[in-house]
Amino acid sequence: MTKMNALIKAKAERGLTIAQVDKPKIKEGYALVKIQKTSICGTDLHIYEWDPWSQKTIKPGQIIGHEFCGVIEDIKGNTTFKKGDVVTAEGHIVCKECRNCRAGRETSCKYTFGIGVNIDGIFAEYALIPITNLVAVDKKIDKRVVSFMDAFGNATQTALCYPLVGEDVLITGAGPIGIMAAAVAKFCGARNVVITNRSEYRLELARKVVPGIVAISPQKEPISEVAKRLGIVEGFDIGLEMSGASQALNDMIDNMVCGGKIALLGVHKPDTMIDWNKVVFKTLTMKGIYGREMYDGWYKMNAMLSSHLDLTPLITHEFPYTKFEEAFELGLSGKCGKIILSWE
Ligand SMILES: [Zn+2]
Ligand SMILES: [Zn+2]
Repeated sequence: MTKMNALIKAKAERGLTIAQVDKPKIKEGYALVKIQKTSICGTDLHIYEWDPWSQKTIKPGQIIGHEFCGVIEDIKGNTTFKKGDVVTAEGHIVCKECRNCRAGRETSCKYTFGIGVNIDGIFAEYALIPITNLVAVDKKIDKRVVSFMDAFGNATQTALCYPLVGEDVLITGAGPIGIMAAAVAKFCGARNVVITNRSEYRLELARKVVPGIVAISPQKEPISEVAKRLGIVEGFDIGLEMSGASQALNDMIDNMVCGGKIALLGVHKPDTMIDWNKVVFKTLTMKGIYGREMYDGWYKMNAMLSSHLDLTPLITHEFPYTKFEEAFELGLSGKCGKIILSWE
């Protein structure tokens, strides 16, 4: 077979198309992976919608997608990976030569390429993946969960950037990544984990995935009241901002303890306003997060998922890839957790 089906952004407009494209040929330093399960990311939804960001970033004709689980069909290079291995991959390809890369801080590489964003992605029957980005996964982990480990990596990176044992944690935004970060916080021994969202569907999903979590809508009950109810006297120790909503960020700053620490994963608008004097006088620490630790982060994800962190309840829908339109429209509606596209 020299042709394969792939999901491409065929034209500079809303939507995607299934197209017959050339099956990639193996080359030195790469693995040819037979794709089994893929997962739809927020990034993919932006590309489907053809928002201003994707108009600037995506070249029509490109295969999209970056979250997958597959099996190595062929591989060429000096590596311990072999044919038949079940793998996923780190979705960011870094330069390996800049100051940060050489110092082992690849997540801060200035010259990062995104699979399925800046180059062809993996929503296809086969994909060519650089060996450097391959990740071996524990066989005990559900393949559907493996398919969204890249997104789980964002959650892990955000949650683990500060120590969590015994801390009171506020997470603003209960999309799949916010919910996964909450799961990590509970797993790591946080005392109270409070997650906020406007959507009752997403709050209910958070309660299902993370037993013991407090999931609230701040429009119905202010965060300060919830904190009081939980016996949090001085404010939250750790804040994880996952929503990109300016109101959520401001609510978070208001409800932090003096000396509290905030990690920001949500993408905010350029005109987002906060009262910087609150950051100054409350001696807050704020840290931006992009991507995930390229070696240790994946190691920790494998370890958590193969012990007792179960993310399968986050999967709410699975479709064959041919029903991608239904899947993407559902994703845009927000009435879902993780959506899996099957390529088997
Ligand atoms: Zn993703
Ligand atoms: Zn670099």
